[in-house]
Amino acid sequence: MLDNSKNQGLRNQLVELLKTKGIKDLNVLKAISDIPRQWFMESGLDGFAYEDKAYPIGEEQTISQPYTVAYQTELLKIKKGDKVLEIGTGSGYQTCVLIELGCKVFSVERQRVLFKKSNLLFRKLKWKPKKLVFGDGYKGLKENAPYAGIIVTAGASSVPHDLLDQLCLGGHLVIPVGKEEQIMTRYTRVSKSKFNKETFGSFRFVPLLKNKN
Ligand code: SAH
Repeated sequence: MLDNSKNQGLRNQLVELLKTKGIKDLNVLKAISDIPRQWFMESGLDGFAYEDKAYPIGEEQTISQPYTVAYQTELLKIKKGDKVLEIGTGSGYQTCVLIELGCKVFSVERQRVLFKKSNLLFRKLKWKPKKLVFGDGYKGLKENAPYAGIIVTAGASSVPHDLLDQLCLGGHLVIPVGKEEQIMTRYTRVSKSKFNKETFGSFRFVPLLKNKN
């Protein structure tokens, strides 16, 4: 697991770029500056780790663009000690950002190959998720609910009700909603049955799929 001052320099440049794109949360920027993104990339693509782009991670999936990771994390408005559920572990990079922010992270992945890979990777890292689960994130993860934050890292054609159900009072669900293109959407639980909905910019994600594979 290599990291050096050149990588740190590239991370600093990436952080500056994210600031110019509008990311303001200093804790999020610090996490991006501290986590070696090359460790989450396919070998052969690690030289592109500090480009602000998504890259293939196998199984037709991608590691999210750093800007998207920062944007979604900022919208979650989480603080140290919060319990957070991530749907779509993928490479584990977003998972790691949430852990670095001091959250207790539960993450669900439906692709067995990616689930196994992220499990192996986290064994070697100092960042530890509370739980990585192989399962269908449409259903959330009831046994550890409720969550202060739920982040969905794949494009959903509709909002899964189970995810709304598993939010704490005052908790946020950040989910890209749409088919070809997705609108970043944030739901805030204001009472047992009421949710406040806000919409933000448009993005392109791989699709949130049902069942396991
Ligand atoms: N956060 C990841 C994003 C990976 S892309 C990263 O930055 O690396 C989205 C991921 O969501 C893929 O790994 C895909 O397999 C997963 N996914 C899609 N539908 C899912 C579902 N219903 N439940 C859990 N994971 C899902």
